[in-house]
Amino acid sequence: MYTMKIGYGPIIDMRYCKGCGTCYDNCPMDVFSWDEEKGIPIVAYPAECCFCCFCEILCPEVAINVRVPVHHLLDFGVRLRAVEQEEGPFAL
Ligand code: SF4
Ligand code: SF4
Repeated sequence: MYTMKIGYGPIIDMRYCKGCGTCYDNCPMDVFSWDEEKGIPIVAYPAECCFCCFCEILCPEVAINVRVPVHHLLDFGVRLRAVEQEEGPFAL
């Protein structure tokens, strides 16, 4: 197995993860692998993420944050000016 570092896809806050397996079981793109020894998910294939946000929505511990690329936000109809005004760092 290999891991990649990219700036989008899911990140798991391990302070809150209880190892329930919901994200691993429900990701349609198999982004997660499972650490059998520790009983926790691993974000193994973030480049495969389709940004459906199922994992973020379904995680009972609210431990997952899916980082969606700006071009996908545009596809979803998010107006960058509004985002910029609210959160600052997005450049047009
Ligand atoms: S759904 Fe949440 S609590 Fe369950 S294994 Fe995934 S990150 Fe951990
Ligand atoms: S956003 Fe969807 S595709 Fe991406 S890791 Fe979560 S469940 Fe999988």
